[in-house]
Amino acid sequence: MSVLPFDDRDGLIWYNGELIPWRDAKFHVLTHGLHYASSVFEGQRAYGGKVFKPREHSERLIKSGKILGFENPWTPDQIDQAVEDTLKANNLTDAYIRPVAWRGSEMMGVATKGSKIHLAIAVWEWPSYFGPEARLKGLRLDLAHWRRPAPHTAPNDAKAAGLYMIASMNKDAASAKGYDDALMMDYKGRVAEATGANIFFYKEGKLHTPTVECVLDGITRQTVIELAEKRGYEVIVRDIWPEEMASFEQAFLTGTAAEVTPLSEIGPYKYTVGDVCKTLMQDYDDLVNGRL
Ligand code: PMP
Repeated sequence: MSVLPFDDRDGLIWYNGELIPWRDAKFHVLTHGLHYASSVFEGQRAYGGKVFKPREHSERLIKSGKILGFENPWTPDQIDQAVEDTLKANNLTDAYIRPVAWRGSEMMGVATKGSKIHLAIAVWEWPSYFGPEARLKGLRLDLAHWRRPAPHTAPNDAKAAGLYMIASMNKDAASAKGYDDALMMDYKGRVAEATGANIFFYKEGKLHTPTVECVLDGITRQTVIELAEKRGYEVIVRDIWPEEMASFEQAFLTGTAAEVTPLSEIGPYKYTVGDVCKTLMQDYDDLVNGRL
């Protein structure tokens, strides 16, 4: 399947306060964000013209930047408005939204003094991250080699580009072995998350999901916890160890791109795409589409 390159498309990108032609949204090769990973981003979605939880995403973008020492010149209101404007300018109602903030090319070096914060927002159609088949059959996850770092090694609570070096290496290794994605452990060996989504397990009437010490506290994760509790499932947030994965009956991923996607395998462990997965998948679908 050939994919249109991301720098050669029609449309408009919001770039430092202006909507500019897609192909002109460039930066210089000597950009701090490129060399030193001083970059944070978001992934959002719009359904039927309505952005799901925009404020949570714009606030997380600002928080991620703050963790990296960014003086973000944009307020959550301005970012939310910019997202709306970008969707409208591109005539999209159902779309993936990618805001990204980075240190520019005003200076070079590990130190950041003198650099400016830039912000861009791009939107495009991206119906289902893992494809419709995964929703029926479940994904197969590899057990990842690279782990989520300790909290004093990297800021796990920032959606920072630098952390995705680990995710990309794991994802590529999993793909090379024929898997859909990889499940990362954390520095202690506890179950952490997939390369771009959180994980939940189910057994005997209860859901289990890892604590957020070493994983991104996903906005979908928080939403699904609420949906599950509304359904009467107890949700236990705790340390989960890999050996326990043999005992769970169902498992699924949550994320803005992944939405709620069931799992059929994690390394040697097998799961059924059961009623709990299906119920929460439907509830999430209903919620984001304004039916719940
Ligand atoms: N973990 C990682 C590493 C992610 O990249 C994402 C996607 N942003 C998530 C979890 C899920 O977060 P959210 O539900 O906020 O999209």
